[in-house]
Amino acid sequence: MLRSALIAASRSPGCRSLVERTPVLRPIVDRFVAGRGIDDAMRVARTIAADRLVSLDHLGEDTLDRAQAERTVEAYRTALRRLGEVGLAPRVEVSVKLSALGQALPADGEKIALENTRRICAAAAEAGTTVTVDMEDHTTTDSTLTLVRELRADFPATGTVLQAYLKRTAGDCADFAVPGSRIRLCKGAYDEPASVAYRTKSEVDASYVRCLKILMNGDGYPMVATHDTRLIDVATMLAEQTGRGRDDYEFQMLYGVRPQVQTQLARRGLRMRVYVPYGTEWYPYFMRRLGERPANVAFFLQALTRR
Ligand code: FAD
Repeated sequence: MLRSALIAASRSPGCRSLVERTPVLRPIVDRFVAGRGIDDAMRVARTIAADRLVSLDHLGEDTLDRAQAERTVEAYRTALRRLGEVGLAPRVEVSVKLSALGQALPADGEKIALENTRRICAAAAEAGTTVTVDMEDHTTTDSTLTLVRELRADFPATGTVLQAYLKRTAGDCADFAVPGSRIRLCKGAYDEPASVAYRTKSEVDASYVRCLKILMNGDGYPMVATHDTRLIDVATMLAEQTGRGRDDYEFQMLYGVRPQVQTQLARRGLRMRVYVPYGTEWYPYFMRRLGERPANVAFFLQALTRR
């Protein structure tokens, strides 16, 4: 219930203005967000890339403004050019949200998002790295997977995300477990109705294992995005059983979440990628992260009451 409330708050302009104007919350935000600008993102990416891989996310979502979508494309192109210039590109890729690139625009949204993402994929290819398309709420799943299939025709290494909480996802995993595909499997971060999604932790975890089995047994490149150490153990076991080498799959975690587990996995020689968000539009991302762990909410409320 708490998680649903925070996800609802992530779309509330009133809560947004309260959180953004409360300086004592800054240290909690900074735990999850690498900074406001590209210089911050580059500094954090360089540090992490010493022993792990990175996916940089220029924060933003749900834009209904074409000029804003264009600014997002430019922000990614700048980031990719700089990653290429300093030689970080092979270890640092980017993650994009189609809703930040125009997917929800009333006229030709999908077409605009496809063209915008194509320009980012071209910049990534030039820099020598890849793009992963994030997954948002279930109303966008079909549209996102269709656009990803189109992008893969020109940029075959383009990855995407499947969410284990959706009842459809085992079928999507089977469709995408093909040579060259890169699939990030996560539990899912939105508040979805029971008609389309599993709602209890045990059901979501069971679905995650089913999906993981399909991806590990398939021909694509699974990207195991979870901080759940039980599922990490299942993934390493499945990788062994299916004869995958250490370069044939990777783990992914979020910046600021379980950093010790991240470095332990990297020290074991496993591929570990950290999702590093940056930018001024941190509010909805931050609220979703708060809702994922009750202790985060306790820190947040303590800081609010101390102000
Ligand atoms: P949980 O059962 O939620 O957590 C397991 C344990 O990890 C918790 O007990 C806790 O100790 C720790 N933990 C988890 N989250 C936090 C947190 N925020 N703060 C502190 N501790 C925490 N979701 C989407 O819907 N679309 C996406 O495109 C997407 N991309 C992602 C990319 C990456 C690299 C990762 C790691 C996650 C992504 N997610 C995405 C979010 C994901 O769906 C989950 O909401 C999130 O990862 C929490 O699930 P979990 O697997 O860690 O399991």
